[in-house]
Amino acid sequence: MSLVNKKDLGEGRALYQIKILEDNYTYVLAWDHEAFVVDPGEGKPVLALIEEKELILRNILITHYHKDHTGGNELLQKETECHVIGPDDERVPKLEQSVDDGEELLFGPFSIEVLSTPGHTKPHVVYFFRDLQLLFSGDLLFSGGCGRLFEGTPKEMWNSLEKILALPDNTEIYCGHEYTLKNLQFALSIEPNNSDIKARLEEVKTLLADGKPTVPSTLAIEKKTNPFLRVNNLSLQKALEVSDTDPIAIFAYLRQLRDQI
Ligand SMILES: [Zn+2]
Repeated sequence: MSLVNKKDLGEGRALYQIKILEDNYTYVLAWDHEAFVVDPGEGKPVLALIEEKELILRNILITHYHKDHTGGNELLQKETECHVIGPDDERVPKLEQSVDDGEELLFGPFSIEVLSTPGHTKPHVVYFFRDLQLLFSGDLLFSGGCGRLFEGTPKEMWNSLEKILALPDNTEIYCGHEYTLKNLQFALSIEPNNSDIKARLEEVKTLLADGKPTVPSTLAIEKKTNPFLRVNNLSLQKALEVSDTDPIAIFAYLRQLRDQI
C-alpha cells in the first residue's frame, strides 16, 4: 500500500489518499470504525489500509466504469460485503445501487451530493461533500486538465465542467490521476505568459521531486491554471488567437490540441 496522504477532517473523520496502479489515486473516507472508498482501481491496497486502521468497509463509490477505477470492486465486495454504488451503468462491476444528478447520500457524518458529469464516459458522476468542500472528480477534472472524451461530446463535457465552476472556490479537488505535470506543461504551451501556471508548475515539480502528490488542488487554483476551465477567459482566448468565443468551440479545440500530445 502506498499511502500518500492522511487528512484529518475533524469530528473523528479522516481521508486517506492511496496511490495505486501506475498513476491512479483511490480515497478511503473513515469515521469511528467505518469507512467507504471512492474509485478502488485496485482492491488489495484498500484492504491493507482497512485492516491496519481496523475499519469496516461499508460502501464503494464509483465515478465511472473504467477498470482503473473499479478493478477492486470484486475483491472488496467479496472480502467485506460492502455495497457498490455508482452511475447507472451495467459495466460497473458488482453495482448494487445507481445514483444520478442531485441525489444525496448519507454515510455516518458524511453528506454527499451526486453530480452527473458525462463526457469522459456516459454516464460519469462526481461526489461533492458540500460541508467539507471536497470534490471527488474521477476522470472529469484533473489538476491542470480534464478527461478525454471517450463517450461524450464537447458540449456534454463543457456542461459538466460548468457544474464544477459553480462550486465554491476553496473546494478541494481530489481527482483520479496524477497527471498534473504533463497537464501544466500543456497549459503553459497554450498560455506562455500566465504567471499563475508558471508558479504552479514550479510547485508541482518540487512536490514530485520530493515524492509527494500534487493532488488535491483547489478550484481557485484550477480556475487560474487549468485551460479547460478558462475557455471563457479573455487572456486564454487571446493566446489561442481564436475569433469564435463560443466556449464549446474553444473547449473542443483545446481538447483536440491536448489529444495530439
Ligand atoms: Zn476513465
